[in-house]
Amino acid sequence: MAYSLYLHIPFCTVRCAYCDFNTYAGLEALIQPYTDALCQEISLVAKSVGGTLPVHTIFLGGGTPSLLSPEQHGQILTCLAQHFQITQQCEITFEANPGTVSLAQLQALKVLGYNRISFGVQSAQPHELKLLDRLHSFEQVLSAVEWARKAGFANLNLDLIYGLPHQALETWENTLFQVLPLGAEHLSLYALSLEYGTPMRAWVEQGKLPSPDPDLAALMYETASARMSDAGYAQYEISNWAKADPALGDGETPALACLHNLQYWRNEAWLGLGAGAHGSAGGYRYSVTRSPKGYIERVMQGTPQPFPFSPAVVESEALDVATAMADTMLLGLRLTREGVSKARFAERFSVEYTQVFSQELRELTNLGLIEQLPERARLVPPAYLLANEAFRRFV
Ligand code: SF4
Repeated sequence: MAYSLYLHIPFCTVRCAYCDFNTYAGLEALIQPYTDALCQEISLVAKSVGGTLPVHTIFLGGGTPSLLSPEQHGQILTCLAQHFQITQQCEITFEANPGTVSLAQLQALKVLGYNRISFGVQSAQPHELKLLDRLHSFEQVLSAVEWARKAGFANLNLDLIYGLPHQALETWENTLFQVLPLGAEHLSLYALSLEYGTPMRAWVEQGKLPSPDPDLAALMYETASARMSDAGYAQYEISNWAKADPALGDGETPALACLHNLQYWRNEAWLGLGAGAHGSAGGYRYSVTRSPKGYIERVMQGTPQPFPFSPAVVESEALDVATAMADTMLLGLRLTREGVSKARFAERFSVEYTQVFSQELRELTNLGLIEQLPERARLVPPAYLLANEAFRRFV
C-alpha cells in the first residue's frame, strides 16, 4: 500500500476575509525554523515506521507554500527523499498564490521535483478579488500560468470560488470564459462557505454584505458544470474536474484527477505533517498542534512516538472497522464517476457494502440520490448539490 503525505505551510502575506485555514500573516521570521522543524518531524515519523514507507503523492498546502524559497523547498524534498521511498511516478504538488511566483522560482521548483501546481485563482474579476482580500490580479494569474508552462509543468490546477456576496451569474460566467482557455489540466470549483470566526461571516451578520444566495450558487454550479463539459473536462468529484481523455469510460476517473485527493476520497492512508495538519494512518485519525511556534517547540524537543504520530500530534482517535467502513462510503460517494467501488470495499473489509449498509443504500436509492450499479454505488447528478443529505446516513 502506498501512502500520501500532506505537509502544511501555515504562512500567508495577509489573511483573506473568508479564510478559516490554519494560517498566519506576519510570521515570516518563523519560516526557516518551521522548515527545520518540518524536516525534524519527517525524520521522527519515518523512524517510527521501522522500515521505509512507499509514498505516491506529496502535497504541500497552506497557507501559501510558494512563500518558501526554493532552498527551503529543496530542504523539505531532500528530507522526504531521505526518509521515504518516493515512487517513480509520485505526484508532487505545491499550492501557490499567483501573486507570489516568478519564472525563476517555478523553474527552480520544477528542477527540485515538483510536477504539479495548484494555483488559488478564485476569480477573474478585480472587484471579487478585492472582496476576497486576494492580493493578486488576474493579469498575474495569466503570467503565473505562462511561467509554469515555460518551467515545464504539465499538470496545473486552478481553484475558483463562486456564490460570493454581490456576485452575478454573468460575472461568474465571465470568470469561466477567461479561465477555461488557459487549458489547465484540472479545475476545482468551490462554493463560498461563510465559516465561523471569519471577517466575511461577521460582515454578513452585521448586514455590511448581503448573504450569498444559495439558489443562485446552485445555478452557478450547474452553469459551470455545463461549460466545463463543453470544454472537455470530466467531473470526477463534487467540486473537481479534470481534462478527459475521449476514451474515458463510464465509471472511470480521469488520469489527470488529483491523485493526492483521490487518496482521501478512497479513504486510504495519509500522513499529515506540519502545524494544524490532519492524518489518517495506522488505524488512527490524528491532528497536529495548530500554533506554528508551539509546533516548532514540540518537534524540536521531541522524540519518536509510535507510528503514525509525531511529538506535535495533540489529538488522536482510534478508528474501528465500523467507522472505517462508514467513512469509505461517505467519502467514496463524493467521487461522481467511480463512486464507492464494490470490489475495493470487499477486498478491504472482507464483506460487501450491500450487506453492511443495505438499509442506507435502499433509502438513498428510493430518494433518487444514488444509483447502485453492479460494480459501484454513486450519487446521481441531480444529487450532487444534496450530497450532504446522502453523507449524513453514514455518519
Ligand atoms: S491565501 Fe489562501 S490560505 Fe492564505 S489566507 Fe488567503 S485563502 Fe487563506
